Amino acid sequence: MSNREIRKFESKKTKKKKKRLRLFIYLLLLLLLTGGVSLILYTLKNPIIVNPLKTKISIENTYDPYEAISFVLFGNKEDVKAETNVDTSKIGKYKTTYTFKDHKIDIPVQVVDNVSPVLVLQEYTTDEVEKVKPESFIKEIQDTSEVKTKIKKEHKIKKGEYEVTIEAEDEYGNKTTGIATLYRKKDTTAPTFTTELSEVIFYENEPFDYLENVQVTDDLDTNPKIETNADEIVAGPGDYTLTYTAKDRSGNTTQAIRIVHIEEIPEENQRIVYLTFDDGPSNNTERVLDILAQYQVKATFFVTGNGQSRNDLIQRAHNEGHTIGLHTYSHDYAIYQSEETYFNDLNAVSNMVYDLIGIHPNVIRFPGGASNTVSANYCQGIMSRLVNAVGERGFYYFDWNVSSSDASGDNVDTEQIVASSTSGSAYDHVVLLMHDTDAKGTTVEALPRIIEYYRDQGYIFKGLSYRSPECHHGVNN
Ligand code: ZN
Repeated sequence: MSNREIRKFESKKTKKKKKRLRLFIYLLLLLLLTGGVSLILYTLKNPIIVNPLKTKISIENTYDPYEAISFVLFGNKEDVKAETNVDTSKIGKYKTTYTFKDHKIDIPVQVVDNVSPVLVLQEYTTDEVEKVKPESFIKEIQDTSEVKTKIKKEHKIKKGEYEVTIEAEDEYGNKTTGIATLYRKKDTTAPTFTTELSEVIFYENEPFDYLENVQVTDDLDTNPKIETNADEIVAGPGDYTLTYTAKDRSGNTTQAIRIVHIEEIPEENQRIVYLTFDDGPSNNTERVLDILAQYQVKATFFVTGNGQSRNDLIQRAHNEGHTIGLHTYSHDYAIYQSEETYFNDLNAVSNMVYDLIGIHPNVIRFPGGASNTVSANYCQGIMSRLVNAVGERGFYYFDWNVSSSDASGDNVDTEQIVASSTSGSAYDHVVLLMHDTDAKGTTVEALPRIIEYYRDQGYIFKGLSYRSPECHHGVNN
């Protein structure tokens, strides 16, 4: 190719280049023009320009919706009406509505927490064993949300002195860290009881917290442990000397004692069923005792001399905590001929019982009850005299206020016995008459349901004693 030819070629090339550049500029101008036009169109449509940086507010800071306006086309900020539901005391998403001429725009506004907690620390001294918690080092903490603290680092400076780094973080991840000093000392001082362990008196079954209001202090352990042996030694009514032991984390202990009196609840103040069984013992007495043992309830046996082959059951009943009362040796109504014949019979059964269990019972029940009229066939007015005479001799007699009706025949229908026996819930103190001779198998069958009924009604079961509430019939002879 000649030089001329090259030049020609080059000028052709330059021309092409210039043409391309021109095209590019035209395109750029066009783009700027359309951009500018659309911007103008947009601004005409949305004449209020809001600064997006001013739509995120820190909690508890003031919010002025006008401050967020950067520019108003063909107007002033003052011409804009702003309505907002922003509550800077609460984190959340809100809305500000700006109205200008016939234009209305909604701008989302956010209240956020981006403030770190304020953390003021203090030194802390403890023993050599406590696992320290961040709370021990915090004197003051402030934040609008909940703050969690943790120990980030523990660094030994010298023996007994540590540098502890505490970090506080609020619910939104804003963190503050600080450094506090921890001193550890050997604890050789035992805790001290700061409350006097005064004597206490309360009733059995009355709930009593032996550790309540018992306080101790310690030089280095803010919460020494207190223990008492109450659970091991307190068992029913009586006087007890309890030992209290206070122990700090380092194992130093102090002991103190307290006297506790536990009194029986007066029977008058309780709902009680006194199950009573007359005329035994017999083979059925054994079944009755088994049921009472199974339900862990106590009863009273008014015994006679008519079942002596099973007198072992009087011993068993006594050993199992039931009351042995006296009914009659012979159960022959002829005993009502005179006071003398009555007491001869009573003494006979009393001596029999004494030989069995070493006790002359003072709880008795008249054959037929104090209200019987059969005695009139033997002696007019005998019952009126006997009710006083037994008292003069130190006996306490008990009639009944509920009857099982099992005396109306042999093996009375079980359902009838249950129905009669469970008719006593109007009484706070039920004295229930039953019989435990060989002919009373259905009484034994009814017994579990009778016990369950009264138990479910909230009654407790006790044997009679001279302290039990009186239960006397009217005297008819
Ligand atoms: Zn009888």
